[in-house]
Amino acid sequence: MTDTLALLATLVALLLGLAVGKAWERYKLREGRWFDRRKVRESPHYILGLQLLVSNQVDLAIEELAKAAALDPAALEIHLILGNLYRERGQVSKAVRLHRRLLQHSRLGRTEQTYVQLSLGLDYKQGGFVDRAFQAFSEVTRLDPDNKYALLNLERLHEEQQQWREARAIRRRLTDIADEPRKPRDQAILAFLENELGLQAVRRGEPQEAAAHFRSALDLDDGTVPASLNLGDVYMRSGRPREAIAVWEQILEKAPERAYLTFDRLKTAYTEVDGPARFVALCRRLIEDNPQDWRARLALGRHAMDEGDAARALDLLLESLGQNPHALAVHQLIWRALSTLEFRPTPVRRYLTLTRNAVFYLDPHVCTRCRYRSTELLWQCPQCHEWNTFVEERLPQAENVEGTPA
Ligand SMILES: [Zn+2]
Repeated sequence: MTDTLALLATLVALLLGLAVGKAWERYKLREGRWFDRRKVRESPHYILGLQLLVSNQVDLAIEELAKAAALDPAALEIHLILGNLYRERGQVSKAVRLHRRLLQHSRLGRTEQTYVQLSLGLDYKQGGFVDRAFQAFSEVTRLDPDNKYALLNLERLHEEQQQWREARAIRRRLTDIADEPRKPRDQAILAFLENELGLQAVRRGEPQEAAAHFRSALDLDDGTVPASLNLGDVYMRSGRPREAIAVWEQILEKAPERAYLTFDRLKTAYTEVDGPARFVALCRRLIEDNPQDWRARLALGRHAMDEGDAARALDLLLESLGQNPHALAVHQLIWRALSTLEFRPTPVRRYLTLTRNAVFYLDPHVCTRCRYRSTELLWQCPQCHEWNTFVEERLPQAENVEGTPA
């Protein structure tokens, strides 16, 4: 959607540019139809249509621009915009027909052809015609090899088909043409694509190739958490727990907010190497570093439960709940602990006091780009397709939820 709006903005800019610029003159000279041009430019429909478009009254804009377009069937820019507006309104086949008709103009210059193909590609994409969308976007890159919109759309289509190798090739091109400040972000996306290639190799049963992809991902961006997790998993499966530990412990340094993703893994690996005490020490250190860390307390509580110490587990879990009263996983484990303790009144009362105003909170992960919400942490947003944009949203402490102190 944001891409489409950006494109729309570009097209409006193009339209305005053409209206006042040299291109407009060129059309006039080439076709020798000065009076027709003026008729369109001076028509109230054209100006009104643009004004409506700017104030986001799209349906009315379509009406006015359609009238303006009817005045001059060869006024490319107006038809181009009109087609894009049809698509915006979900009238894909109408948009396709219009854009294809424009392509049949033999007088189209390279820039104009590029724009029409790009619009056509977006029409097909919106209509779900993947092959045709591929064709149209590829045609755009043939006409204009550095066309960012076409490259981005091609990359997205490949991602949707899980063609990670092709997606990576396109992202490399995008990285090559990107401005310097944009490059780290491109590197990070390349790293996620490498990680996907690694996962495919895992599924094919090729651990060495998988590990190579995960390592490339970390070379590109050592903060690529899933690549660290997956590389460690490969090491563990091939009986190399020490190497797995080293990789996972890097996550604690590079992305402490994602540390909890390593908990179950590290616990297993530590236990294999030198017993569970090391895991307990790790959780304690994390809590020391960040007293609000409810997940490390949850992990400690779970560990205590596994060791059969429900009373100690309950203490830790209630502490965890104090930091995040909305975490369902904590509540569930508390219920188990309370049940093991046969619902003794004192701990039950403590629990009830702490949760008086807590609401259960199931989808705390939010995409920072498009606000898509998810119950689990996702590495790529299913809505805006951006990589690594999810953060965990925390509601205020229980006391503040309904504005009444507990
Ligand atoms: Zn998103």
